Amino acid sequence: MEEIIVNLHMHTHYSDGSGSHKEIALAAIECGLDAVIVTDHNVLVQGFEGYIKNGANRVLMLIGEEVHDQDRDPQKNHLLVFGAKEEMATFADDPQSLIKNVGESGGLSFIAHPTELAAPAFNETDISWEDWSVDNYTGIELWNGLSELKTLIPTKLHGVFYSLFPAFVAHRPLTRTLQKWDELLKQRRVVAVGGSDAHAFRMRLGPLSRIVYPYNFHFRAINTHIFIPNPLTRDLNTDKQMIYEALAGGHCFIGYDLPLSTRGFRFTVHGGEAAGIMGDEIHSQGAVTLQAYLPSFAEMRLIKNGKVIRTVKRTQALTYITREPGVYRVEAYRNYLGRKRGWVFSNPIYVR
Ligand SMILES: [Zn+2]
Ligand SMILES: [Zn+2]
Repeated sequence: MEEIIVNLHMHTHYSDGSGSHKEIALAAIECGLDAVIVTDHNVLVQGFEGYIKNGANRVLMLIGEEVHDQDRDPQKNHLLVFGAKEEMATFADDPQSLIKNVGESGGLSFIAHPTELAAPAFNETDISWEDWSVDNYTGIELWNGLSELKTLIPTKLHGVFYSLFPAFVAHRPLTRTLQKWDELLKQRRVVAVGGSDAHAFRMRLGPLSRIVYPYNFHFRAINTHIFIPNPLTRDLNTDKQMIYEALAGGHCFIGYDLPLSTRGFRFTVHGGEAAGIMGDEIHSQGAVTLQAYLPSFAEMRLIKNGKVIRTVKRTQALTYITREPGVYRVEAYRNYLGRKRGWVFSNPIYVR
């Protein structure tokens, strides 16, 4: 298994972002990412997929889109679409039909910012996901950089502070979204990803103009670490397929890499002849052993069916032996800039 670092969910000047695909690629290379997935609003932009080089370094750029019904008021139900073969924005008016068409087109669908509250000081309305009657989507965007920011800016002054010191923004996925995920996991598999929702906003104040939350800030922050079976080949189609298959299988975790890189986190299971990683299912005919490992010391929590069943402070490793079926996942927390902050959120291992 090979761990790659991917930043997903971002906007260019084809929708409401300020930058170009080229600028995104250069920022991604600067930050050491393996791949980015660009998702402009309601347009599958053609012509930018592939490896982009800068000197000896390169990054894989994949293009998806973020689809929502622009006639709906308020404009809720945003869906991230990856790997669909054609434009999906035409199906935007009905979320379930959109999800169905994405699947039929070979794509993956993730509910974007499931909780995204209003920020009245910035005239931003609540654009949470509303239609929870839908099914057959791949997963949800558990941690979105922008949703969290919106909970922190009751006034314009707060907005100015966080734009100058963006490292103070991220704490953890919103509680309502985490609870929703645990609730959904009781019924079905739901893959969690972390998204930056990078726009590189251009803020104007009188004659001054400044880019806030630039791409190269986001690319060092909330990333999705994906486990692919073989190293990247540098062939677009081979690598794209490997990445999307791994995402569909939930072989990934969300790492908040700004305090310290989360590269090296592992969460595995073995029992009898069987073994697996995040996203896998294992049958508990006998006892199974769950093992989590962190690249550095942190507080680690093991969660079963939405409840914390073990917390270990300042540890790098956690082992848990059980015969009980359940949905098991791991969270890790570290102190950073004076606060305890989420560091790692694993996808579950399903013990059946
Ligand atoms: Zn959105
Ligand atoms: Zn977005």
